[in-house]
Amino acid sequence: MQKIIYLDNSATTRVHPSVVEAMKPYLDTSYANPSSLHQSGREVRIAIEKAREKVAQLLGAETKEIIFASGGTESDNLAIFGSALANRNKGNHIITSQIEHHAVLNPCNELKKQGFDITYLPVDSNGCVDVKEFEKALRKETIFVSIMHSNNEVGTIQPIEEIAEICAARGIIFHTDAVQSVGKVRFNLGNTMINLLSLTAHKFYGPKGVGVLYIRKGTKIQQLQYGGHHEFRRRAGTENTAGIIGLAKAMELSYADMDKTNMRMAGLRDYLENELTKRIDEVKINGHPQNRLPHILNVAFKYVEGESILLNLDSHGICVSSGSACTSESLEPSHVLSAMGVSVEIAHGSIRFSLGRETTKEEINFTIETTVKVIHRLREMSPLYKRKA
Ligand SMILES: *Cc1c(COP(=O)(O)O)cnc(C)c1O
Repeated sequence: MQKIIYLDNSATTRVHPSVVEAMKPYLDTSYANPSSLHQSGREVRIAIEKAREKVAQLLGAETKEIIFASGGTESDNLAIFGSALANRNKGNHIITSQIEHHAVLNPCNELKKQGFDITYLPVDSNGCVDVKEFEKALRKETIFVSIMHSNNEVGTIQPIEEIAEICAARGIIFHTDAVQSVGKVRFNLGNTMINLLSLTAHKFYGPKGVGVLYIRKGTKIQQLQYGGHHEFRRRAGTENTAGIIGLAKAMELSYADMDKTNMRMAGLRDYLENELTKRIDEVKINGHPQNRLPHILNVAFKYVEGESILLNLDSHGICVSSGSACTSESLEPSHVLSAMGVSVEIAHGSIRFSLGRETTKEEINFTIETTVKVIHRLREMSPLYKRKA
C-alpha cells in the first residue's frame, strides 16, 4: 500500500490512540443512559460530569458554562440562532465577517431571510478583520456579533478579545468560532468578555460528531432542540457518552504538549514555506505572515489549478485541500481568498497544507520534492505559463 502523507489536519485529524482507549468502555460495557437512576447510569453520569469539569478547567470556564453538542456546526448554529431568537425584541442587526466558515455564514444568511439585517465585515489582504471597521458597523440595533478566532483556510488569527470587550461594553452578545484554535491556542475564558465559543473534537485528535458550545454565565440564548432536560436545558438529547469522554481526553492531551507540538509544526511549516518559495517562482503565501496558526500553510502557485495540484499530489499519497473541504466541489473561488482581495486566477491556484502532531521532517521533504515536480510539470502544460515565457 502506498504511504499516505496526511497534510489535511484542518479538515480533520486522526483520533489519538489514547483517546480511542479512553472511549472504548463507553461503547461497550459502560453503555447505560447517563440519565438513568440505577447504578450503571449514575456511573456514566459521573464520567460525563468529570469530562465537563476537565473541559471547563482547560478553558478557564465554569462547569455549567460547558454545553456538549454534536460538533462545530451545531455549536455555531445554537450560538447564532439561539442568540438571535432570544434577543430579537432588542434589535435585528447582526455583525459577522466575510471569511467565516459556512457553519456561521449560512445561519446568518438564513437569519437574513427571516428579517435580520446582517453586516459581513471585510478583511484586509492578510485576512484580518479591522477593529475600526468593526466599530463603525455597530448600531444601536446590534444584538449579536460572530467573528471566528482563527480562519480555517489561511490560519489568520483575529483580534477577538478587543472585539469582545467592545461588545460587552454595549451589552451585545459576542460569539467566536474557535474550532481551528482550540488545541493550539490557550484560552482563559473567565478573563475575557467572550459570551459564546464553539469548538469540535475532531480538529484536535478527538472523534467526529461531538463538540462544545461555551455559554458564559448570564448569556441569554434560546434552545433550538427541545426534549429532555439535558445540558442545563440548552440542548436536549441523550449524551454522546463515548464522544464526550473522547473530547475531554483529546483536549487534555493537546494541552499537555501544546507548546512543544506548536513549535515543531510551525518549524516544519516555515521550512515548507521557505523551500517552496525558494524553489518555485511566482508563489504567493495567503494569510498573515506572523499572526497565524502554527499548522496551516496556504500557497498560491500562479498559472496552475489548485484542483490539478491536489489530484497530482494525491497520486503520490499526499493529502491537501484546495479551497476549504466544504467548497472544494464547487468552481467558485474560495470566499476567504476573494474577501482578502486575491484575484480569481491566484485563488484558483491555491492549496492548503495543514500539518499535524505526527507530521515528520521526512514527510515534509518528500512533499517539497513532489510539489516542485508537480508544479513544474503542470506549468509545462499551462498555456498561460508558456505565453509568459
Ligand atoms: C471544521 C470547522 C467547523 C465545523 O465543525 P464540525 O464539527 O465539522 O461541524 C466550523 N468552523 C470551523 C472554523 C471549522 O474549521
